[in-house]
Amino acid sequence: MKSKEAKNAKSAVITSSPFPNNYAQEFLTFDRGHGVYLADVSGKKYLDFGAGIAVNALGYGRKDLARIAARQMRKIVHISNLYTTEPAIRLGTMMTATTPCASKPFSAVHFGNSGTEANEAAIKYARLYAYETRGPGHAKILSFDNAFHGRTLGALAVTPNPAYKTKFEPLMPGVAHAPFNDIETLEKTLSSEFAAVIVEVVQGEGGLSVMTREFADALSTLCEKHDVVLIADEIQTGIGRTGTLYASEMVSLRPDIVTLSKPLGGGLPLSATLIPEKINTLLKPGDHGTTFGGGPVTTAVSARVWEVITNPAFLERVRATADHLDTRLREISAAHRCVAGLRGAGLLRGIELAYPSDTASEAVGTVMSRARSHGLLVLRSGKNVVRIAPPLVITAAEIDAGIAILDSILGGLDEGAVER
Ligand code: PLP
Repeated sequence: MKSKEAKNAKSAVITSSPFPNNYAQEFLTFDRGHGVYLADVSGKKYLDFGAGIAVNALGYGRKDLARIAARQMRKIVHISNLYTTEPAIRLGTMMTATTPCASKPFSAVHFGNSGTEANEAAIKYARLYAYETRGPGHAKILSFDNAFHGRTLGALAVTPNPAYKTKFEPLMPGVAHAPFNDIETLEKTLSSEFAAVIVEVVQGEGGLSVMTREFADALSTLCEKHDVVLIADEIQTGIGRTGTLYASEMVSLRPDIVTLSKPLGGGLPLSATLIPEKINTLLKPGDHGTTFGGGPVTTAVSARVWEVITNPAFLERVRATADHLDTRLREISAAHRCVAGLRGAGLLRGIELAYPSDTASEAVGTVMSRARSHGLLVLRSGKNVVRIAPPLVITAAEIDAGIAILDSILGGLDEGAVER
């Protein structure tokens, strides 16, 4: 029996694919999912602490989402942005009615298909605003060390990590970077030469540092003072992941533009760039656009996702689950010398490994692959952080099951850890 299982498990892993080498060429092939569990093509079950990189907020196998998508597929799938559809209007109306900051309402939402596209749109809108209100020469964009904003050339330009960008330079000019959560440097750097600041509240890919309330206030105030557009990239943190609809609410950040994507389409590709009236009023037809963004199938599904997640009881439950996860993480942190600290917020958390910088990345890889063989999927963030971003519908018992696996794996890493 054991050897049959091992044989089956092996057959779910392929090492030759039609996909380019910019993806690791060993793929685990999945077949289906239900709740917070996935099954690979051999039938092996996995508890998912990664949610398709923070996408599958409502878990797998949702019959309501499947029904909505199928019904809409039969009605109309695509119509372009020369026209519109009822699902797009409905979703857009719901989304523009919510804002992280009462004094900064949204006036419109631009739909796209991916996170990087949402940020490209945000950068264009901010530059257009600066151009129209102050003329040319105010187009600089400020972003922060360890940020990740996407892989298209504009979003890549505002992503400081050289590992993502050096081979593709020259990128969009006019970009500056500053240390995250450093108010003094921010005060010295920001001026009206800047069109925008783009920032994550929790740095999802870059190690899960969380914006401090003090920094959120200073950043918001300085942007208001210089009339610089503040863009909150909430592609990973948005829609409930940190226990509030927008993570900006958690630290009282006052963004002008918010970008959303990952969980927005219930697993279908959809992004949103929410903009204020002061920008919307300056836009003219043709200033920006996309063929597929905001199609009727994605927006119909997303409207359901939005209704579920914006329910206060749902968000309350996410906060309670996040508190439970926090307690369990603190326990394993106290129990293992290989844990240097805990990162992140809500249900976007990180375990920082106490390994020297030259071996930290390998240690994270070891945790990921051992977890996988024990039927648990986790992610990485930055060099030395194991990332946990489960579906938001996960229960306390399911968290305990995953933590028990991580606990046993971390036991095996304690020996090689540095003193903390
Ligand atoms: N911004 C943030 C904060 C992200 O985490 C990501 C993806 O991980 C992106 C932008 C880019 O999104 P996409 O991969 O959908 O283009």
